[in-house]
Amino acid sequence: MNPHKIVIALTKGRILEEVLPLLEKAGVIPSEEIGSSRKLLFDSNLPDVQLMIIRGSDVPTYVELGSADIGIAGKDMILEYGSQGFYEPVDLKIACCRLMTAAPVGASLDSPRLRVASKFVNIAKQYFSSRGRQVDIIKLNGALELAPLMGLADCIVDIVDTGKTLRAHGLEPRDFIADVSTRVIVNRAAMKIKHERIQSLLQRLQAAVDATSAGRA
Ligand code: AMP
Repeated sequence: MNPHKIVIALTKGRILEEVLPLLEKAGVIPSEEIGSSRKLLFDSNLPDVQLMIIRGSDVPTYVELGSADIGIAGKDMILEYGSQGFYEPVDLKIACCRLMTAAPVGASLDSPRLRVASKFVNIAKQYFSSRGRQVDIIKLNGALELAPLMGLADCIVDIVDTGKTLRAHGLEPRDFIADVSTRVIVNRAAMKIKHERIQSLLQRLQAAVDATSAGRA
């Protein structure tokens, strides 16, 4: 951990587009346009703040192990990572959706050994075991909706927003597992060592979230 820098790990993709305006309101602006660059590490207008752009599933790893001080990732990625090894002080209230089970419309899920396809294997395992159900989890990395259609699985655990993607594949949402939104996570040691600078940044981010929510209301 570099004691002089604050490294923020950002999730690339749709979350990044919504996070950058919030960061800007909090006073952090990348020194060059992120979208048009192949770079993965950026300086910012603040001499001590650097931004990394990585996959959401890698953000908790970087933060827990201290190579990033702060991370911004979906709650789905944080739940799937499964550790309590960092703080989660701010809900950015963006990229909101739900983790749900989904199955073909009207299909019975009574079979004694359900086949569940998901990229969220830990979340799926935990959910079904909490309900006392024995399941076979099939790990996929995307296009989960195809798994029931092609006979690979009886149901899926996936992210649902409007439900349109499910319906387009003859599926329907079944059980709610968790609400998802984008969260700020902080390395525990960094929170102590760089307390003032991190707290000040978190307060500015929270103020940016509050101002955005007030604007929406
Ligand atoms: P929808 O058709 O609106 O239910 O959107 C569902 C699909 O959009 C999912 O399969 C995800 O791939 C994607 N999606 C929706 N919301 C999010 C989000 N907040 N984060 C990541 N992916 C999302």
